[in-house]
Amino acid sequence: MTQILKEVDQQLKDLLQKSYSIALFVGAGTSVESGIGTFRGEGQMSYFEGVPPAYLCTVKALEKSPQLCWKFFNHLYSILQKSKPSSSHQFISSWQKEAERRKIVRFNVITSNFDGLLSRAGVEKVQELYGNIDQSICTTCQRLFNTSDIISQPIPRCECGQILKPNFSLLNDYANEKAYDETVAITRGCQIWFLIGTSGVHKHSLTFTQAVKSRPRATLVEINPRDSFLTKYVHFSIKGKAEDILPQFDYVTA
Ligand SMILES: [Zn+2]
Repeated sequence: MTQILKEVDQQLKDLLQKSYSIALFVGAGTSVESGIGTFRGEGQMSYFEGVPPAYLCTVKALEKSPQLCWKFFNHLYSILQKSKPSSSHQFISSWQKEAERRKIVRFNVITSNFDGLLSRAGVEKVQELYGNIDQSICTTCQRLFNTSDIISQPIPRCECGQILKPNFSLLNDYANEKAYDETVAITRGCQIWFLIGTSGVHKHSLTFTQAVKSRPRATLVEINPRDSFLTKYVHFSIKGKAEDILPQFDYVTA
């Protein structure tokens, strides 16, 4: 297990004690322990019927092969139904509760994950940038459905006739507008920006990280097994899996 360097550990401890506005950007690396593969990098999902999952989660694939895509979404949904929040999700939940107790003014959690596991671990007000698989949406009339109600259909359709899509952002799709706006506001006042288990390939994680970086007194901390697209922007890069590194911040939950 990787230990946080002693010097880094002390500097972060001092910073965290003084900060009143902390934000965590949480990526797919935190869900690997829950048995959910990532689309890229560490813990990648295996091909589904010979097709890369990242391709099946595109608008183009849904238009071209709706039945195969929905077969994959069904597979993904059943994995998520059976999975449990990871120790990282639970740690973040305890951290948030302790932050509230200590009256840290702003403790925000943003995620690129659509598995809903942070909320299931008890984290409140999670900004789910790319939505959540628990709902599906009609791309024409925007009607929302509970995924559990429509998942048994080979190609779920809306009453208007249009094919539904899971209400998470397909990979060449857009971020959830409300979560996006909230995150823009979060980056403005943020003193410490943590990037946890994210490869940084999502353009939004880059945009937000650059926004925080442009603030003169903000500190950026990355926790990831290896360098990501975002490493060059951070002040502290801690190499390791979130599940090994986060417990070393135990003083924030004590
Ligand atoms: Zn419709």
